[in-house]
Amino acid sequence: MKKSIQTSLIHNDYQPPAGFGAFPVPIHHASTVLFKDVAALRSGDWKNKNAYTYGLHGTPTTFTLEARLAAIEGGSHCLLAPSGLAAIAMVDFALLKSGDDVLLPENVYNPNRELGRWLASDFGVTARYYDPMIGAGIAALIAPNTRLIWTEAPGSVSMEVPDLRAICHAAHQRGVLVALDNTWSGGLALRGFDVGVDIVMQALTKYQSGGSDVLMGAVVTREQGLIDRLAMAHMRLGLGVSADDAYLVLRGLPTVKLRFDAHDAGARRVAAWLKTRPEVAKVLHPAFADCPGHEHWKRDFHGAGGLFSVLFDARYSEQQTDRFVDALTLFGIGYSWGGANSLVMPYRIQSMRKGWADAGVLVRLNIGLEDPADLIADLEQALGQL
Ligand SMILES: *Cc1c(COP(=O)(O)O)cnc(C)c1O
Repeated sequence: MKKSIQTSLIHNDYQPPAGFGAFPVPIHHASTVLFKDVAALRSGDWKNKNAYTYGLHGTPTTFTLEARLAAIEGGSHCLLAPSGLAAIAMVDFALLKSGDDVLLPENVYNPNRELGRWLASDFGVTARYYDPMIGAGIAALIAPNTRLIWTEAPGSVSMEVPDLRAICHAAHQRGVLVALDNTWSGGLALRGFDVGVDIVMQALTKYQSGGSDVLMGAVVTREQGLIDRLAMAHMRLGLGVSADDAYLVLRGLPTVKLRFDAHDAGARRVAAWLKTRPEVAKVLHPAFADCPGHEHWKRDFHGAGGLFSVLFDARYSEQQTDRFVDALTLFGIGYSWGGANSLVMPYRIQSMRKGWADAGVLVRLNIGLEDPADLIADLEQALGQL
């Protein structure tokens, strides 16, 4: 059929030669996905991801990223979300309904706590907060309508490492699901399914991306019933991710373990130096014996990454520690972590947590990929500004 120029700009028969090979996963941009014929349209199952149906449900780019992330975590299925927080919301909306109860650790990632507040105020769910060091004691908090227990290991500001095995054991005896925010370990230092959790969530924004340039989250599971419920929430909430962003994360994966190990080594060196300083009352690093829950870290983890906190001696005012933060030259003041650049963030831990009223100012450090000796020199000059 002869076509006008306008139509041939849209319908063109050219096909590039087959057989192109290269290492990167191709970036497939698509909203519409074409079906060969009506039979193909009717046979596809978007939920099982055994066919392409619509951009929201996956392309070769996102399917490949999902499969690689599931393999890292030791799960069978993965769903992507446009941020770590969207991944948390996917889990909550998949598993909770009006009348249900959810338990969250007191030191949980603050926007997750905020989501709990919203579910409680507007959606008829009760959200209760537990001491992250509760361990087997969680059994006493489980109510007949408790459906989900969130865990985070460690809490990403105060760094207590929970006893995940004990929490999962108590939860499963009562038929309650356990979700783990596994962002701190990048899925590399802690295998959530090995310690008993049902659902692993990751903020890919951190180590997997590694570039400080993309927001993305993932939810990994290995049970068909859970996969179906999560897939329904993913679809109903429309949690699509961009192909370009998926590519950025795919690009980060081959180096993620090397980067994670370098962050880990640098952070332990800087943390050990900070421990010797009189200005610092406590270094909160899970690999250090005096960190709350260190024994759980030792039992369950294979590394620590670059994120830890310090508590300044209580004799220093916030004004003084703010001066320290401002004086740093190699540490940017900013949220998040997992990129090449070191970051610093002061927190008012006293108002965030019960039982920390007497603590000094908490400052969280993300050790990037700079030479640790330069970072230590920078911290030393900034401590001089206190
Ligand atoms: C960053 C982070 C998230 C959220 O990830 P975003 O992609 O920034 O939404 C969730 N949990 C933890 C522990 C995080 O550090």
